Amino acid sequence: MPDTSTCDVFVIGGGINGCGIARDAAGRGYSVYLAEMNDLASGTSSWSTKLIHGGLRYLEHYEFRLVREALMEREVLWNMAPHIIWPLRFVLPYHKGMRPAWLLRLGLFLYDHIGGRKELPPTKVLDLKEDEAGRPLKPEFQKAFEYSDCWVNDARLVVLNARDAADRGATIRTRAKVVAAERAADDWKVTVEDTVSGARDIVMAKLMVNAAGPWVDEILANAVGKNDAHNVRLVQGSHIVIKRKFDHDRAYFFQNADGRIFFAIPYETDFTLVGTTDQDYHGEPGDVSISDQEIDYLCEGASSYFREPVGRGDIVWTYSGIRPLYDDGASKAQEATRDYVLKEDSGNDRAPLINIFGGKITTYRRLGESMLEKIAALIGERGKSWTSGAVLPGGDFPATEFRAHVAALKRDYPFLNDRDATRYSRVYGTRARDILGASRSSEQLGRDFGSGLKEAEVRYLIEQEWALAADDILWRRTKLGLKLNEGQVTALEAFMKELLGDRYAQPT
Ligand SMILES: Cc1cc2nc3c(=O)[nH]c(=O)nc-3n(C[C@H](O)[C@H](O)[C@H](O)COP(=O)(O)OP(=O)(O)OC[C@H]3O[C@@H](n4cnc5c(N)ncnc54)[C@H](O)[C@@H]3O)c2cc1C
Repeated sequence: MPDTSTCDVFVIGGGINGCGIARDAAGRGYSVYLAEMNDLASGTSSWSTKLIHGGLRYLEHYEFRLVREALMEREVLWNMAPHIIWPLRFVLPYHKGMRPAWLLRLGLFLYDHIGGRKELPPTKVLDLKEDEAGRPLKPEFQKAFEYSDCWVNDARLVVLNARDAADRGATIRTRAKVVAAERAADDWKVTVEDTVSGARDIVMAKLMVNAAGPWVDEILANAVGKNDAHNVRLVQGSHIVIKRKFDHDRAYFFQNADGRIFFAIPYETDFTLVGTTDQDYHGEPGDVSISDQEIDYLCEGASSYFREPVGRGDIVWTYSGIRPLYDDGASKAQEATRDYVLKEDSGNDRAPLINIFGGKITTYRRLGESMLEKIAALIGERGKSWTSGAVLPGGDFPATEFRAHVAALKRDYPFLNDRDATRYSRVYGTRARDILGASRSSEQLGRDFGSGLKEAEVRYLIEQEWALAADDILWRRTKLGLKLNEGQVTALEAFMKELLGDRYAQPT
């Protein structure tokens, strides 16, 4: 049966911006319908460097508004979701031929002072001859600055926003592609196709939000029928994941001889994440993959800092994403603005459309607030801003008490080893208890698919987090794809097919 009721806000895209807006709008009392053509966070939002950061580099481009807003968000977001967001210290070695120390010092001074920092520790100078952080580096790196930003599990941030939106009444649909959107009198008439079954639904909406990330212009051209859509500059960024390169828990901020920067970050306990690149992209966003040239660039960059060189043989995984940057006409990809732009198309007093160009994971909540101001102006105000300080699912414990939270889980479920208790706490926060329930032994959680992934967790992810394929679990709800072998993946697929039947989503 087609759904013919009219919702207030229809959101296209289940990335961080779409899900953040859906949550904010649902919490204010709007009826919300979100359609994601693939899985939640399957677009740019799970391919980021995973930093909640001001963006030290953007100060060079005088993006003070963006940097200040982003810096302020670090502690707000950490407190909202301390299981998936936490402070990270960055070691920035400096030496001749790079940006001068005085310039870095000035940037870091601003970084420490313009962003409302309360809990995060300030910048300090490190002697790399003495400090452990110097050990994996070549001996010519003797001095560094160490400063604070935060780490985020990007894909989970998206899913938790979707979960909270749904808990507040929003309809969240995945594998649901918007194939057409027509203005019908005062409303939008949106055609949504289920990409698994092929069935089509019509959804009526008072206002439509185009949060399709790299596909934002494609929506305008194909679904809405605007031929002159050239608003975004697509910029590819790739990362390599290598075996763990160092033992401490800090990250490195490296500068390349060409002035570009990249990070080496502790990742999923056993790995180091190295990236990113920055180059214009002209293909279909869904087809992006790392190029040989990018692999060489990242390996060479990392090898110029680490004592032990990084080569292709060290790479265990790579990923690439597309930044949908607002096209501000900058000549180089890395100089294009990272700020967001919301553009309203009020359709001559007919049903309005608001398009999102650009943005960062870090500023998604603020982008949502700006969007809600526009929505209120166009279809009437429902509620005030509320998301600052409202925890995301599983984040209801004090931000600085993560270890105590793990200890409490172990106390209540003594059969969990340290690694599993920490993983459950990191991925699910207090909602780990919804998975573990009344179980008194590991066996009661059902079949083990490897690396601690049990049947109970798989069922939870299907029932609560829209998982419809093995990849949704292995690469987005968790990163256990890095650990499971082929046989284990096949067993997981078979189990999910058994549970989901023809709802199982084959990879596209
Ligand atoms: C390499 C790289 C590193 C980055 N690092 C950082 C970082 O460290 N920190 C930070 O703050 N930001 C970072 N960013 C930026 C950040 O990742 C993006 O700004 C953000 O994820 C964009 O989110 P989005 O929701 O706008 O887009 P997306 O996540 O791409 O979501 C758009 C969604 O729309 C869906 N969609 C498209 N067409 C349709 C349709 N017809 N019907 C239904 N759904 C549709 C897509 O499937 C997709 O899931 C990085 C980006 C890249 C590429």
